[in-house]
Amino acid sequence: MSMKSLGGTMEPKKGRFIGGRRLKPESLMMSYGYRPELSEGALKCPIFQTSTFVFKSAEEGKAFFELAYGLREKGPSEELGLIYSRLNNPDVEILEDRLCLWDEAEACAVFESGMAAISTLAFEFLRPGDTILHSEPIYGGTEYFFKHILPRYGMRAVGFPAGADEKAMAAAARGAGRVGMVFVETPANPTNILVDIGAAVRLAKKLSVKGRRVVTAVDNTFLGPLWQHPLAFGADFVLYSATKFIGGHSDVIAGVCMGREADMKRVRTLRTFLGTLAGPWTGWLLLRSLETLKLRMTCMMKNAQKAADFLADHPKVEAVHYLGHLEEGSAQRRIFERQCLAPGSMISFEIKGGEKQAFRFLNALKLFSLAVSLGGTESLAEHPATMTHSDVAPADQRRMGITPKMVRLSIGVENPEDLIADLAQALEAV
Ligand SMILES: *Cc1c(COP(=O)(O)O)cnc(C)c1O
Repeated sequence: MSMKSLGGTMEPKKGRFIGGRRLKPESLMMSYGYRPELSEGALKCPIFQTSTFVFKSAEEGKAFFELAYGLREKGPSEELGLIYSRLNNPDVEILEDRLCLWDEAEACAVFESGMAAISTLAFEFLRPGDTILHSEPIYGGTEYFFKHILPRYGMRAVGFPAGADEKAMAAAARGAGRVGMVFVETPANPTNILVDIGAAVRLAKKLSVKGRRVVTAVDNTFLGPLWQHPLAFGADFVLYSATKFIGGHSDVIAGVCMGREADMKRVRTLRTFLGTLAGPWTGWLLLRSLETLKLRMTCMMKNAQKAADFLADHPKVEAVHYLGHLEEGSAQRRIFERQCLAPGSMISFEIKGGEKQAFRFLNALKLFSLAVSLGGTESLAEHPATMTHSDVAPADQRRMGITPKMVRLSIGVENPEDLIADLAQALEAV
C-alpha cells in the first residue's frame, strides 16, 4: 500500500480493530485503506484518472524506481510510491487492500479481466516443458488458453475430472510429465461438481522437488470471496473473474489474483510488463461494488435455495445440480461441508427431453435474461452445451456431464417468488 505517496503515512492494519475485536470484512469495505484527509476530505475515494504521478523530488523518483525495478530491497518503513498507472494507481491499490480482507490474503493484484489474471499467473509460474494439471470442466476461456495458447510456448495442459479423489488426481499427474502448476476450478461450471482443494494442494506438494515448487491455483469465481476460501486450505493462489460476483452488476470486466507477498511480487512485476493492470475507473467501480458484496451474495444465495427447491419438485425437471442439494453422506457432501460456507447462487438443471425442450424453456423466460456470465444482480439463464461450452467436443461434453437438456441459472436479487413464477410459466411453455 503506498498511500504515503498521496501525502502521508498509511498504516494498513490501522482501523481493523475496535478494542480487541477484529472487524469483519463487510464493516471495512467503505473505509479500509483510504484516508479522506489526503483527498480534500472527500468521504469516498475519488477516481484518480491520471496516467502519471508527480515526484516530490528527484531523490524520491530515484528511490521509487529502485524499488519498482528491484534494484535494492525495501527499507523497513519504506513503501513503493506511485509512479505510473501501468504499475499501480490509488483506486486499484485501495481495492487490492480491501480484497485481501475477504480471503485473508497477504497480497493482491487486480487485472483488467479474469483472463488477464489467469494468463499472467500462468506465464509467471510455468516454464517451457511444464504441464498445467487442471480440473475439468473449466471456464471456456481458460480451457482455450490452456489448450491452444500455452502449447505455443512449449507448455501443455492435462485434465482430471472434477470430483476425482486423491488417487485419481495422482494417476492423472503420473502421465502428465513435469507438472508446474495444479489448477482447480471449484465448483465446476456448469455441473457444480466440487474439487477437493486440500487434495490438490497435497498432490502439488508431493510433485514438488527441491528448487522446483509446484504451485496450486484455485479459480474461486463461483463461490468466493464469501463462501469459499482456498488459501485457508493451503492453495498458493486464489483467482477471480471480478466481472462476476465481485463486480456484481454486469457492467465491468476485471480480474483478481491473491497469495503470499513474495509470490505476488512476481505476479505484479509480470503484470507491469504485460500491461494487464486494471485502470482507475475499473478500480473505482469495484470499490463501489465491494460495499454491497455481502448483501448481494447473501440475498442471491437465499433466492437460489428457493429456486432450486422449486425446480427439484417440478415434474418437467429431471435433475437439479445445486450445492444445497448434495446427498447426505456422499463424498461431494463431505467436500462441501469441509470447504464451503454456503451453496452460492449457481444452479444447473436438466429438463425432461433434450435441446428442443431446453430452448423452449429459455425462450419463454420473462424476468430471467437469456445471457451468459453470472454473479450479477439480475438473474440469467443459458444453455451450456451450445453457448458457454460449445467449444468442448460433444464426446467430452458427455464425459463431463454437460447434456443438451441442461440449463444453467445465475440467480439474482429479485423477489424470489417472482423468479419462481417466471420459472413456472417457462416450464409450462415446454
Ligand atoms: C468469467 C470467468 C472467467 C474469465 O473472466 P473474465 O473476467 O471474463 O476475463 C474465468 N473463470 C471463471 C470461472 C469465470 O466464470
